[in-house]
Amino acid sequence: MSDLRVRFAPSPTGYLHIGGARTALFNYLLAKKEQGIFVLRIEDTDVERSTQESVDAILQAMDWLGLSYDEGPFYQSERYDLYKSKVTDLLNKGLAYRCYCSADELNAKREAAMKAGGKPRYDGTCRERTDQPEAPFVIRFKTPRDGNTAFVDRIKGTISVENDELDDLIIQRTDGNPTYNFVVVIDDAEMGINLVIRGDDHVNNTVRQIPMYKALGYEVPEFAHVPMILGADKKRLSKRHGATSVMVYREMGFLPEAMVNYLVRLGWSFGDEEIFSMDDLIEKFSLDSVGRSAGVFNPDKLLWLNEHYIKTGDPQRLAGLVAELLEGQGVDIENGPDMSAVVKTLQERAKTLVEMAEGARFYFEAPEIYDETAAAKFLTADKVGVLEMTIKSLSELSSFDVEDIERAFSFVMEESGLKFGKIGPTVRVALVGGTVSPSIYDVVYVLGKEAVLSRLKKALASLG
Ligand code: GLU
Repeated sequence: MSDLRVRFAPSPTGYLHIGGARTALFNYLLAKKEQGIFVLRIEDTDVERSTQESVDAILQAMDWLGLSYDEGPFYQSERYDLYKSKVTDLLNKGLAYRCYCSADELNAKREAAMKAGGKPRYDGTCRERTDQPEAPFVIRFKTPRDGNTAFVDRIKGTISVENDELDDLIIQRTDGNPTYNFVVVIDDAEMGINLVIRGDDHVNNTVRQIPMYKALGYEVPEFAHVPMILGADKKRLSKRHGATSVMVYREMGFLPEAMVNYLVRLGWSFGDEEIFSMDDLIEKFSLDSVGRSAGVFNPDKLLWLNEHYIKTGDPQRLAGLVAELLEGQGVDIENGPDMSAVVKTLQERAKTLVEMAEGARFYFEAPEIYDETAAAKFLTADKVGVLEMTIKSLSELSSFDVEDIERAFSFVMEESGLKFGKIGPTVRVALVGGTVSPSIYDVVYVLGKEAVLSRLKKALASLG
């Protein structure tokens, strides 16, 4: 057991997106690998935009991906007393101050600064103010003016800024609510987080947060900022590039292990290996192999991985997932063949669970009508004899395994003098309704004698 403590700290203002899930995964993997602790913290201080629905969606997505946490979820909304006490501490130590500048005044200052060619920064009017009038105010952190703030990022290397580039950040708003950059410091410190792994959109926050750690007397943790994820056009990943919500991929029939495998490769590599189980990842993951350049989102690769995991998945587990989908579509799966057997016939053919469910339907629902083109070609009056022979030959079987079935078809071929190519497609249309299905022998076997004979007889009857 190491003393590593990492965390995932989502803001519940929407679903769990690809980037957030990757951050959660990296934290999870490192914690597991080093037998440290993975904390989940819900950053819900933005009351307007935070919703319980989003919290639930995030928890559900983490659960689906298998990212279990050791501590939490902690909610920032329940920790306001702590934050208030830290504001008071800083005020008492003279490391924070009340700022009475109005929004209009601040805008005017900002514009003036920009006109003068400077940065649009707070000019520090209230920094040395000693009176405390009864008027609305915010509280600002007194960022040191001299020297610089530097840290060694575990991914990006040394990052340094001059302190006079930094603003006096607002740590408490006029309504008394604390702000993100302030509470994140308190929480990470109080929760004993010693390595903060998050997206590199936070680098600018980190250099603002470090002086606050110091002012509050906390040890500064290590940081690892993970490069962002781009679309194929090298623009920041957005809905234009495909679904960005992890759970939408579940709905589209993706397996969580495919998603995990895909996410980890958005920024991390291990030689030229592509296939990683969660156990592999726990063994092999390290921040040293996280690249410095942005990951590019490639839906085709995700689909390729999904196909792989469907091909190699445990039929029984896949059966449960396909059963759920079919039941959701109102298909009666109780009175049909064994779902694992069904899945085995489709694993080589389906790229997603949705495709698999689609391909499995005919096993449970006899065709009501036949595909017109298929029937016109393969279910024609001259096929009466073949269908009769097949019915006879199959009904005489006393056992019904694949070899028996093959033998029955050989017999039909001999009797009729026809090749399998002249028999199989007809049988397929009769059983399935169209021209696409797993191998006929497998279909006949999995459907079972009774269903097969009944479907063949129905097709025969349709020929008049
Ligand atoms: N709550 C922040 C977000 O969702 C993350 C904060 C952090 O990781 O420090 O972007």
